[in-house]
Amino acid sequence: MASKEQAKKVLLVADNDANREILKYNEQVENYNALVIKYNGSRVPVAGGKYSGRTITNIDEVEINPNGKYAYGVDIGGTTVKIGFFSTGGELLDKWEIPTVKTNQGEQILPDIAKSIKEHMGKKNITFDDLTGVGMGAPGPVDGLGVIYGAANLGWGTFNISKRMSELLGGICVKSGNDANVAALGEMWKGGAQGYHHVVAITLGTGVGAGVISNEKILAGCIGAAGEVGHIHVVDDEPDTCGCGNQGCLEQYASATGVVKMAKRKLESSKKDSSLRSLKDISAKDVWDAVKAGDELAKELAEEFGKLLGKGLSFVADVVNPEIFVIGGGVSKAGNVLIDYCQKYYVKYVFKGSRDAKIVLAALGNDGGIYGAAKLVIE
Ligand SMILES: [Zn+2]
Repeated sequence: MASKEQAKKVLLVADNDANREILKYNEQVENYNALVIKYNGSRVPVAGGKYSGRTITNIDEVEINPNGKYAYGVDIGGTTVKIGFFSTGGELLDKWEIPTVKTNQGEQILPDIAKSIKEHMGKKNITFDDLTGVGMGAPGPVDGLGVIYGAANLGWGTFNISKRMSELLGGICVKSGNDANVAALGEMWKGGAQGYHHVVAITLGTGVGAGVISNEKILAGCIGAAGEVGHIHVVDDEPDTCGCGNQGCLEQYASATGVVKMAKRKLESSKKDSSLRSLKDISAKDVWDAVKAGDELAKELAEEFGKLLGKGLSFVADVVNPEIFVIGGGVSKAGNVLIDYCQKYYVKYVFKGSRDAKIVLAALGNDGGIYGAAKLVIE
């Protein structure tokens, strides 16, 4: 994320078709050799672009309006878009959802959001001058300038979503990030990691999402693909393929579907009696309820779960040395029992310098995304 002091002038040069495509959304420039971004003096190559030092054009990023009293936080999902209306003090004043219309490569999604925000502004009788800006979280890799590198869920290719949204909203400041990264920011701001500066937030839902915050900044990586904790390889002989195309990803075990898969495999391979055997359709909740009820087979499953999640978190900690992990998503509703199993193995596997990192439950639930998005445009 380009911070206030960084984001003034941006110099861009492109080195291949993909990068030229990105540039088109920033500025109409073509036929250049490298993509270089310059933040007030320091040059940062992005998107695999090479530094060539060729200066093509200056782009002024729109800065956060320091006089704004409100902000909108937008969490773009595959089925619905959540929108939150916040005071700059961080109070959620209003929230609602609109459907995500994915037809025609999702071209209607941003205009629908802009329309909904404008309608809300009309109802509240506020103008663009009253806003610090609009923050957005989107389900794909997003770099510090707001360029999304494709979002298969929405039908989107590569383009600058911040710039596009700003154009739809009278040129106000729009900042964007990957949805999981943005949710992590929300948990740090107003959720389970309040008061911490080095935070890893993990969402155990249909998949496993994660965001890494280092020194209060989202760690986005060169094309916004950092923090893909769900795709850390934790098992070598997994026959099934993960959504990402690899095998043995953490997401294949620690997600809701992963827990169910592990349970079914266990019931087949074990002769042990279990309350789970009487259920027709097992859910992740059933498994954790059985753990809490003392079911021996379920407890074995919880050990396996804790081992894999603890291992995944230890890998992350060995690289980013966080103060705290925040665990959210549907599976985390199991509560502290899940944390305990995870902590047991985390402590076992992690480098001693990160052994004291706390592991806690997320506090914002589904609102983490809108909180974090709003925080992108609140100083
Ligand atoms: Zn994967």
